[in-house]
Amino acid sequence: MRIIDHHIVGLSGGGAGRTGDVFDPNTGLVQAQVTLGTQATLDTAVAAALKAQPGWAATNPQRRARVMAEFKRLVDLNIDELAELLSSEHGKVIADSKGDIQRGLEVIEFCCGIPHVMKGEYTQGAGPGIDVYSMRQPLGIGAGITPFNFPAMIPLWMSGVAIATGNAFILKPSERDPSVPVRLAQLFAEAGLPEGILQVVHGDKEMVDAILDHPEIAAVSFVGSSDIAHYVYRRGVAAGKRVQAMGGAKNHGIVMPDADLDQVVADLSGAAFGSAGERCMALPVVVPVGEKTAIALREKLLPAIAKLRIGTSTDKDADYGPVVNAAHRARVEGWIQKGVDEGAELVVDGRGFALQGHEKGFFIGPSLFDHVTTAMESYKEEIFGPVLQIVRADDFEHALRLPSEHQYGNGVAIFTRNGHAAREFAARVNVGMVGINVPIPVPVAYHTFGGWKRSAFGDTNQHGMEGVKFWTKVKTVTQRWPDGGVDDGGNAFVIPTMG
Ligand code: NAD
Repeated sequence: MRIIDHHIVGLSGGGAGRTGDVFDPNTGLVQAQVTLGTQATLDTAVAAALKAQPGWAATNPQRRARVMAEFKRLVDLNIDELAELLSSEHGKVIADSKGDIQRGLEVIEFCCGIPHVMKGEYTQGAGPGIDVYSMRQPLGIGAGITPFNFPAMIPLWMSGVAIATGNAFILKPSERDPSVPVRLAQLFAEAGLPEGILQVVHGDKEMVDAILDHPEIAAVSFVGSSDIAHYVYRRGVAAGKRVQAMGGAKNHGIVMPDADLDQVVADLSGAAFGSAGERCMALPVVVPVGEKTAIALREKLLPAIAKLRIGTSTDKDADYGPVVNAAHRARVEGWIQKGVDEGAELVVDGRGFALQGHEKGFFIGPSLFDHVTTAMESYKEEIFGPVLQIVRADDFEHALRLPSEHQYGNGVAIFTRNGHAAREFAARVNVGMVGINVPIPVPVAYHTFGGWKRSAFGDTNQHGMEGVKFWTKVKTVTQRWPDGGVDDGGNAFVIPTMG
């Protein structure tokens, strides 16, 4: 059995501790064992990080940027192998795995410009003979705790910016698909990153708690489900760390009566069912505005859903593959049953789907619910599977209230040809990322990613300038160079002013 080990300086074999099963979601079989680390594993990584970080922080930013550029070249060179590895553990189709890697690489591209964004501010002559300047310095050691659904992009969101700004970074990826993060760390090493600057520790709650409590770790970036995000935020902050913790989502797609319904259905098919719905920026709720729109949309959705092709992650013609494991499939099917019990109309039932030749794989067919209401638990909670819910709205104001009042506020989209309605919606909706005729509005790498409400705890987003702010602290220097004569201006005992 293949063992997936930590990537830590001076540690190999991982010891005789606990392990976790890593499945092949296509076959339902265990394909590898991941070593689950302990406090002692983390201590080893932290010791190596402490040793390496000062030298890396002192390396000029242009040289740090060159490592980023070389890493990008190596990932591009190895993208086929990486995508296959990613698909084999996650279950998303290969083209989608390449997208996962590509979106991460775009953050690395942003990091190639790190010398520019690290430049501080300067005021000449802020007072008589006094200049003020500020600089951004790394925090020291940062850690990242990531979910299973983007095993390349999310580790790169965090590690790219943390490392480029001069920190050492310890990544604890999801134990469900841990191979790609290790491979990325190896490629960083090949690109010239000094050892100890990026390390990968595997584990579950025990490792997460060790990270949150570790006195040498200055900052923690987390992405995962909301209850755990909130826990990580509270515990990390209580230990005096800087914490950003992104959580779950329930993104709505508002369909105005003037929308191009063929385009909407094409967009929705991918956004609701792509990656088997396992995306925090998926669109699992569609909100047609007005009865006529609802009827027409439902009519067009049905044949589009019937046409969806579910296949293995290596099937080039498949629209989506299996979900990540059996427990997750059971959870999604449980939510479908809950929706039925709550009185929603199950128009298409994806439960019990078996792929010929892969009967033990973790496949689920697409499901469609209509007449879902805000009182239903299956509406309030995240399902994270290939399930689309129709919530009918009477008018624009009603449609605007639905995502605005939902507990999650990650992403939202509006489909319309009316610029005024779109502009009004974007300004007023209580959600962090908005798409206008864009179903999955994941911001580009030089902007920033982050939701509102229970979709994110903490106040800085991922990547872009917000990421740079998160991974650095500002130091401000006030300087004067007196010419030798003592002049206290009679004010030495008064708080200095520039007056
Ligand atoms: P998860 O919360 O189960 O796991 C995330 C991380 O937390 C993993 O590294 C895991 O090992 C760790 N963890 C799990 N249980 C823990 C516990 N009890 N205590 C401490 N740590 C624990 O999430 P997941 O199932 O891997 O990922 C899917 C979730 O992530 C969805 O809710 C999805 O919406 C969310 N997500 C959010 C974003 C975003 O940016 N907002 C992006 C991607 C995924």
